[in-house]
Amino acid sequence: MNARPVIGVLALQGDVREHLRALDRCGASARPIRRPRELTGLGGIVLPGGESTTIAKLAAAFDLLEPLRAAVRSGLPAYGSCAGMILLADRVTDAPPGQQTVGGIDMTVRRNAFGRQVDSFEGDLEFPVLGEEPVHAVFIRAPWVEQAGPGVEPLARIPTGPATGRVVAVRQGALLATAFHPEMTGDCRVHELFVRIVDES
Ligand code: GLN
Repeated sequence: MNARPVIGVLALQGDVREHLRALDRCGASARPIRRPRELTGLGGIVLPGGESTTIAKLAAAFDLLEPLRAAVRSGLPAYGSCAGMILLADRVTDAPPGQQTVGGIDMTVRRNAFGRQVDSFEGDLEFPVLGEEPVHAVFIRAPWVEQAGPGVEPLARIPTGPATGRVVAVRQGALLATAFHPEMTGDCRVHELFVRIVDES
């Protein structure tokens, strides 16, 4: 069996603790990342849920934005949930002017896409690469994937209601993103998928 890979969680704002706990439970050895030099030696990195504008501003202020971009460009596996999905998008709509991202996934993500009336909701999603059992997904002021390039694999879609068919989980190579928060439900399967991606890289 492989040793547990070391996976960082960008620890500037958001639900950092939930991801650290989920990673430790789901096959990795997790550590919080606040400085550029802490990126050294990581097998992968998680960008948590929170507020993408705030996380991007803090990353720039902590001199982490460019090192993160460079690391992802050179193949560091990354998983983003919710705000983290926005941060991994090459393009964002409904963002304040000048919002920066780390980028890496060839997609346009719409922030707060589900609108004000449905700030938060939960539901079961089919997520075929995780097996037959649906994933219980928690959405909190979530984005969706508005458009994606041919190299982006859709992994899950909204099954019912006005947003039917909207893509809410994707993978492009070693980059994984979900619009929802598996770190909040105790289901290990999304984090385990990321640990496998890290192991394979
Ligand atoms: N709406 C938030 C943003 O734009 C994301 C919300 C979340 O991560 N739960 O960053």
